[in-house]
Amino acid sequence: MRSYNFGKGCKVELHGHGKPIMEIVQEKVAEMELKHKEDAFYLADLGDVVKKYEKWSELLPRVEPFYAVKCNPDLPVLKLLAHLGAGFDCASKDEIAKVLKFGVPTSKIIYANPCKQNAFIRYAAKQDVQMMTFDNEAELYKVKAAFPNARLVLRILPPANFKVQCELGNKFGCHPKDARALLMKALELDLNVIGISFHCGSGVGEAAAFSAAVEASAEVFDIGQSLGFDFDLLDIGGGFPGHAGGAISFEEVAEVLNDALNKYFPPKRNVRIIGEPGRYFVSSAFNLTVSIIAKRMVATDAKAVALERSEEPAFMYYVNDGVYGSFNCLLYDHAKVEASLVNAPVNAMEFRTSIWGPTCDGLDQILKEVRLPELCVGDYLNFPNMGAYTVAAGTTFNGMPRPEMFYHCSENVWCHLFPDALKAKGPGRLTGKIPFLKAGHDLDKVEHERVPPSPVVLLDA
Ligand code: PLP
Repeated sequence: MRSYNFGKGCKVELHGHGKPIMEIVQEKVAEMELKHKEDAFYLADLGDVVKKYEKWSELLPRVEPFYAVKCNPDLPVLKLLAHLGAGFDCASKDEIAKVLKFGVPTSKIIYANPCKQNAFIRYAAKQDVQMMTFDNEAELYKVKAAFPNARLVLRILPPANFKVQCELGNKFGCHPKDARALLMKALELDLNVIGISFHCGSGVGEAAAFSAAVEASAEVFDIGQSLGFDFDLLDIGGGFPGHAGGAISFEEVAEVLNDALNKYFPPKRNVRIIGEPGRYFVSSAFNLTVSIIAKRMVATDAKAVALERSEEPAFMYYVNDGVYGSFNCLLYDHAKVEASLVNAPVNAMEFRTSIWGPTCDGLDQILKEVRLPELCVGDYLNFPNMGAYTVAAGTTFNGMPRPEMFYHCSENVWCHLFPDALKAKGPGRLTGKIPFLKAGHDLDKVEHERVPPSPVVLLDA
């Protein structure tokens, strides 16, 4: 398979157009088996990130995406998004440092944590990362002392009567009725407030949450302008769906949001609009494959055991990633995960099954009850949509290693972005005109002409 060296430790395997993920997983499993390895691994589809970027540009053309690094600070993803022209939402000094390394201009970074450590504010000042959010008076005093020229963004509490996967309003956001007083304090301290932000909550379940929040922002915008602030920024936060199986689609959100933005912030108002999508960019791009490291057959349920009745058996499988690793998303992100078999037996009988992580803790359970055929130690299970709030907060508790990370991309998508990939290693090389990346372009459908093999060139990005 041809590959492309995308910087330190990241080899991107390029594959043909439309290759199904399960095929890629099976090939990787076969490769692992040849090496006598049984480790858990991620397959990160960088092309999926590119397509998300394209879709965002097409459906939300007025909103600049500032990727929320906290969601998955994977370096190749940050590098790719920086290459595409995205901005970044950073929550700490470390996140700011990470994106600055990729040459991201400071105008494309927002320090979007309303409660910051003093030393981190001083770091932002030193790096001239001017945009930062606040939602309380104490923060204004801290900013006044550490970075009086900061360009502040008031984070308001959006209307709360909507379903979300993870609530954020319990911790952050100035109630709109308190906004006037807080803005007056900023005036008194001679601080520069440039606009309003909100975050509806992570994993918004109703598109109307966004329009309600835009409306609330417009009211506070008016208050700020009436106080004499020169507001020119609206930050609509994150909360966008990351994969197709969610409660709402990105298309629905975009439609509702565009209407609200055009109503309350029409282009003639000259407001820069940014968003802080996290899961939107990475959720569907990351596929996790784990192997079964241990197995136990148990009676079907406690009642059957008590009655000493023998019934259909149930199985417990122990796999090599769990809630202290990638599956922390079950606890922190309230995620729901789905397992499928990498090499599914045909017409096999299914049994009650529970799936457990590798640590010695009884809490470390991934799936309480699913129906699966009987499996063996060494078999692999696959979990799609594992890019958001997984690796970011995973630990190595009990000395369990983090999954290995492999990157792949359809060669058409990659060659659009990095024309020098045309010279990448492989049987034959790609050639032909490379159309410019533009909104609405279906990257996978572009055909490249193949020419006979050329000398091997391995590129470093
Ligand atoms: N912005 C801020 C300030 C956040 O706290 C978060 C998530 O917690 C995000 C953006 C990203 O949210 P999501 O991943 O739901 O898009």
